Amino acid sequence: RSEDGTVRFALVGLGWWTREEAMPAIESSTFCETTVVVSGSHEKADRVAADTDTVTDALTYDEFLDGEARDAYDAVYVVTPNALHLPYVEAAAEYGKAVLCEKPIEASVERAERVVAAAESGDVPLMVAYRMQTDPAVRRARELVRDGEIGDPVQVHGHMSQRLMEVIPDPDQWRLDPDLTGYGATVMDLGIYPLNTARFVLDADPVSVGAQFTAEHEAFADVPDEHASFEATFDDGTEVSCTASQNAQRASSFRVVGTEGEILLEPVFYPDQTRFMTVRSGEQRVEVQVPPVNQMTEEFDYFADCLLSGASPHPDGEHGLADLRAIAAVYEAADTGERVVV
Ligand code: NDP
Repeated sequence: RSEDGTVRFALVGLGWWTREEAMPAIESSTFCETTVVVSGSHEKADRVAADTDTVTDALTYDEFLDGEARDAYDAVYVVTPNALHLPYVEAAAEYGKAVLCEKPIEASVERAERVVAAAESGDVPLMVAYRMQTDPAVRRARELVRDGEIGDPVQVHGHMSQRLMEVIPDPDQWRLDPDLTGYGATVMDLGIYPLNTARFVLDADPVSVGAQFTAEHEAFADVPDEHASFEATFDDGTEVSCTASQNAQRASSFRVVGTEGEILLEPVFYPDQTRFMTVRSGEQRVEVQVPPVNQMTEEFDYFADCLLSGASPHPDGEHGLADLRAIAAVYEAADTGERVVV
């Protein structure tokens, strides 16, 4: 940590999310500062650095891996394509730096295990960047479930969709390339939101899954999932059904139905929208609008606060690994047509 008590971050991978969401979020945070940026080219790193007052070092990936400028940062935010998280987590851990790693933690269960092992062997904190866990509406839903306001949860339905080829109109993008995205395009990128939010809200985990995918549009020729539907039986007995699509109208929702009531959040998973939250508990029905907070500022400040106070940040690597185990089971279930034990 720097002398003024802020946590200095190296940002690894300067894609749109880093430049348009993470950097402004860090700028508006209380405890964080961007001091190092890492990119494929010096030119891009220099250009991004020039837009800030705080960056002291602009590095290439090779320079970062070699440990250059490692006195200039305390923590590393890894925001590269899924299959390129591991090398940067390994380097960060080797240099004793705390890691905030984007979701999904890696491209496969085996590589995700290596991410967790790297942080353990370097004895550095590892948090996976599930921004929904900072969201006030989602956190309220978790409290209501925990306090029994809807009785015992019975069923959950979560949905997230977008039209990927309009959001990122590049047929060669990494999200459609199995070598970089991992098991597929839709559950890895979008289905993980309802799945992880269900785990967080219910405080429970999947034990078995079933799934069906379709992929017809030519952009999805190399991946199994353009549209995905999967359902998971959780260890508390709740049935969680999720749908996700990379080629449909932008939409998101999350509903928990219990023995005595229900909670509905819609929209929920995109960062910039007011959430409409409906809670029915017995005869009572309450509707509230929850304005969006900057989830990334919350996430960075929470992570930095943990580092500064010596607390262990959550969600940790094991939590991220549990998602990937469930997601691998979802892809296997869709492939075989069989139910798969997680
Ligand atoms: P982008 O494609 O926008 O950016 C990824 C960046 O990674 C590129 O700009 C590039 O940066 C770098 N990179 C390094 N190697 C490669 C390669 N071989 N191919 C492509 N890019 C490469 O991706 P996102 O920022 O959208 O996603 C990055 C990670 O963040 C993913 O794991 C994704 O799931 C996660 N994410 C999470 C979000 C959330 O809400 N929590 C939202 C969006 C993404 P450079 O040019 O600087 O080298």
